[in-house]
Amino acid sequence: MTIEWDAGRLDSDLEGVGQDTLAVRAGQRRSPEGEHGEALFFTSSYVFRTAADAAATFAGEMPGNVYSRYTNPTVRAFEERIAAMEGAEQAVATASGMSAILAMVMSLCSAGDHVLVSRSVFGATVSLFEKYLKRFGLQVDYVPLTDFSAWQSAFRENTRLVFVESPSNPLAELVDIAALAELCHAKGAMLAVDNCFCTPILQQPLALGADIVIHSATKYIDGQGRCLGGVVAGRSEQMKEVVGFLRTAGPTLSPFNAWVFLKGLETLRLRMQAHCASAQQLAEWLEQQPGVDKVHYAGLQSHPQHELARRQQKAYGAVVSFEVKGGKEGAWRFIDATRLISITANLGDSKTTITHPASTTHGRLSAEERAKAGIRDSLVRVAVGLEDLEDLKADLSRGLAAL
Ligand SMILES: *Cc1c(COP(=O)(O)O)cnc(C)c1O
Repeated sequence: MTIEWDAGRLDSDLEGVGQDTLAVRAGQRRSPEGEHGEALFFTSSYVFRTAADAAATFAGEMPGNVYSRYTNPTVRAFEERIAAMEGAEQAVATASGMSAILAMVMSLCSAGDHVLVSRSVFGATVSLFEKYLKRFGLQVDYVPLTDFSAWQSAFRENTRLVFVESPSNPLAELVDIAALAELCHAKGAMLAVDNCFCTPILQQPLALGADIVIHSATKYIDGQGRCLGGVVAGRSEQMKEVVGFLRTAGPTLSPFNAWVFLKGLETLRLRMQAHCASAQQLAEWLEQQPGVDKVHYAGLQSHPQHELARRQQKAYGAVVSFEVKGGKEGAWRFIDATRLISITANLGDSKTTITHPASTTHGRLSAEERAKAGIRDSLVRVAVGLEDLEDLKADLSRGLAAL
């Protein structure tokens, strides 16, 4: 026995509901089986009733799926849910965060275009621009995220895209997204924000005026370190181009990963609240420790952009970086003394992670580039997970004792 469901019913019922309701219900269309949970459509292609139906679907004259490089119902459900949570007209899922950035640039920029990128972006993002995209005639300049006058003077006639991460990794620096969006639009450029560290729970860049949001869903959206994935979200007019690139080039999201991310979104707010609450406590505690010279966390009064963070974000995120006594040796001794926290460069996991940015995530930069970016040898980065706060403190105390 199968049950017929009105596919449109859920969409209309979600008009005007809150972000928490969207997080658990947006994007789901039930199949004729009547499943309550989201169905996982594990299929590469789709069948047609007749040759004529196949022809009409291929021609786009009849709705329907053709091939999972083009569309997949589970991937579409994830896209609709994250779009609803970001307040975007449309979201497009990709195989990873990096392929989201690649798809955005390949579909919206051409040879001869100028792109501005904030200096403190994810390492692979810099490699993508420097090693590959520049080879195809893209002009790329880097601007210090927090220096607004540097942004004002960095634009050229042909500046088409501005790409920033706010807050940045690992120093939690910010840019005023609304002010930067206004500047971009006055100069005829689009603003894209990598929202990986905040997720739509803490910050909605589109509502602040940005044109495009990028996610590595690998981080908090999954939240449990299982799958890679990415998202590009924005206006349909631009997302149509991104879809075109993905269908042709192929870095689409696996339906299994989309299913994991759908379930991840359902608990995202609860997890972010817990991540942020523990991070705030640990940052305040670390600031009191004699072995710690400086803590970089936007939730601290001592953070130079605390006021902007309060205005722009709902909370301060869960990445806490700090400088310990004893330079690189001190940082390594600190890290090696922990027993509970995982030594890994990943973040956005229920398990707390610890890393030494200067020799891992930022190890490919020259010492001079690292100095410019403010990444000291004594810097340790902790991405706070969901363990008991007291256990995390006890583990970090082992690090402090080893300094
Ligand atoms: C991890 C990360 C990326 C890249 O995402 P992948 O899913 O690993 O490809 C991009 N931006 C930021 C801020 C990240 O942390």
